[in-house]
Amino acid sequence: MRHLVWFRTDLRLADNPALHEATAGGARVEAVYIDCPEQWRRHGNAPIQRDFVRRNLQHLADRLAELGIPLTQLQTGSFAEVPALLAEWTAGRGFDALYANREIGINERRRDKKVQQMLAIPCRVFNGDCVVNHGSLTTRSGDMYKVFTPFAKSWLGRLRGSGYRLLPAPDRQGEPLSPPAIHLGGEFVSSKAWPAGETEAARLLAEFCREQLRHYGERRDYPALQATSSLSPYLALGVLSPNQCLAAIEAELGSLPLSRGERGFSWLNELIWREFYRHLLVVFPVLSMHRAFKPETEALQWGNDEQLFALWCRGQTGYPIIDAAMRCLNETGWMHNRLRMIVASFLTKDLHIDWRRGEAWFMSRLIDGELAANNGGWQWAAGTGADAAPYFRVFNPTTQSERFDAQGDFIRRWVPELAEVPAAAIHAPHQWLATHNPTHNYPLPVVDHGRARLHAIAMFDALKDREAV
Ligand code: FAD
Repeated sequence: MRHLVWFRTDLRLADNPALHEATAGGARVEAVYIDCPEQWRRHGNAPIQRDFVRRNLQHLADRLAELGIPLTQLQTGSFAEVPALLAEWTAGRGFDALYANREIGINERRRDKKVQQMLAIPCRVFNGDCVVNHGSLTTRSGDMYKVFTPFAKSWLGRLRGSGYRLLPAPDRQGEPLSPPAIHLGGEFVSSKAWPAGETEAARLLAEFCREQLRHYGERRDYPALQATSSLSPYLALGVLSPNQCLAAIEAELGSLPLSRGERGFSWLNELIWREFYRHLLVVFPVLSMHRAFKPETEALQWGNDEQLFALWCRGQTGYPIIDAAMRCLNETGWMHNRLRMIVASFLTKDLHIDWRRGEAWFMSRLIDGELAANNGGWQWAAGTGADAAPYFRVFNPTTQSERFDAQGDFIRRWVPELAEVPAAAIHAPHQWLATHNPTHNYPLPVVDHGRARLHAIAMFDALKDREAV
């Protein structure tokens, strides 16, 4: 038997169900990767993530070659051309079946459906991106959960009952080959601050579990501490699987913390959030189509002031925590979760700019940009999503800053104009600057938070009035 494995967002050998099943029973395996730079551009993913894909794919190609598994790289423009390309390329090559792990975006699913129709060989698709398979957790009435807590309860129940399965990397199937040099099309920004490859990802995972996991719950909200795993770029590209995260937790703690309050549970809970958003994306394709989860919020009257949007993007709003977070994103391609929530709330509720603009900006900058989590996070912050923040609870950027960056360490790292400002003044520094450094060049606040908050609440109240008419 000869099987073809199609790698997509599962750039790893270990715990890769498609690869594992393809090699089972001694079948000979070849691998293919299809680069679609035009599709990448249309999806608006970041050049830094593109570079990270390239480096991880090269790593995968090297490891496949060591195992004697050849990898072919094909290139075309967009997903629309993939089915014909694959059908043509596989014809006459003697493959008995195609193996792949499922991708969940709507364009990916449409592409895969077409591939199944056009290929002369059977296509076998597996779940490689979630611990619990999409669509398998439902309420009593058979619907997908729309609220996180009952979803998490059900997810934990499944884990208690069925556990999880960790699959080994395949055995060597022949003499080592010389690996292909990977060339992707499109635009790149260096991702070299992030070590590439699944061996490095596994090392970082073990290190995080050893050094941070036990204190994650108390420390995770403070961006200056670097107390979260920073594994999101690896999870987003499938260099690391969520099962591997569970195995690492278990190896460190001796067992999985399956109840709230147990050491390590808070981190597991974040992995459940990841799965919640992925399950939602599968069940509600509108989430892949720039539409709000709550349809009534489509009528929100966003201000969409271009100048305010540009100031937010550049980190020039006059709110230090916002500016530090946005500059960090622009420079490094990554942002801490607490800051993502604060800047997303600020864009939508203080600047009254449509969450889709922020979602797209994040996607164009993030090394871990990932439709389900990004869309979920933005719709949560904007109050348009499943289990979203209540619309009247608007983050105050100054008190958030006082609470989560009390000494101003994170702010000073990214906003050098405020390097001299003491902790007590750094969260709203204008008075201090006017007295101590009158020639400063830090911008004045672009909006008054109190007034902006009332306007945001009025925007949502107007929706209720529409319903009542
Ligand atoms: P850890 O705290 O170590 O968590 C472990 C893993 O769990 C993460 O790597 C991630 O895969 C997952 N995770 C953690 N928090 C969440 C969450 N709230 N929702 C879904 N998954 C989560 N995450 C992305 O991976 N890609 C995105 O494009 C993305 N965009 C976001 C946009 C907004 C507006 C918000 C509020 C959140 C977004 N997140 C996104 C979720 C979260 O901010 C990041 O996953 C997290 O900051 C990554 O850091 P970490 O790896 O140190 O996470």
